[in-house]
Amino acid sequence: MDELVCIVCPRGCTMHIEEKDGTYVVSGNSCKRGEQFAVSEMTAPMRTICSTVRTDFPEAPVLPVRVSADIPKDRIFDVMREINHTVVKERVRRGDTVIQNVLGLGVDIIATSDMLYTGEGR
Ligand code: SF4
Repeated sequence: MDELVCIVCPRGCTMHIEEKDGTYVVSGNSCKRGEQFAVSEMTAPMRTICSTVRTDFPEAPVLPVRVSADIPKDRIFDVMREINHTVVKERVRRGDTVIQNVLGLGVDIIATSDMLYTGEGR
């Protein structure tokens, strides 16, 4: 039996997962989302990333970004490497794509701030 702390919400339920006949039986969760998280962790764990990328603009040398959807947990370091090698050269707005389809994962890296945007075009 595996034990896992749910990270879906701040309540942090401690769950127990047991495999029976090819299916996972989850206990200790307080809601369905916890069960879904537990099964995902056992089969294909996913994570989100919030980070920053460097920019060419001295007044805002780094720009906050995040992934547009969860990525496989075992690709976090690969995606972080792409983020760390990226330099933003245009005045993007919040929600704009900074890296499209990063590593072919079907997920974009998007800006989460308007700090580069001046309202004067790009
Ligand atoms: S099982 Fe439900 S209530 Fe418990 S931490 Fe997960 S999401 Fe929150």
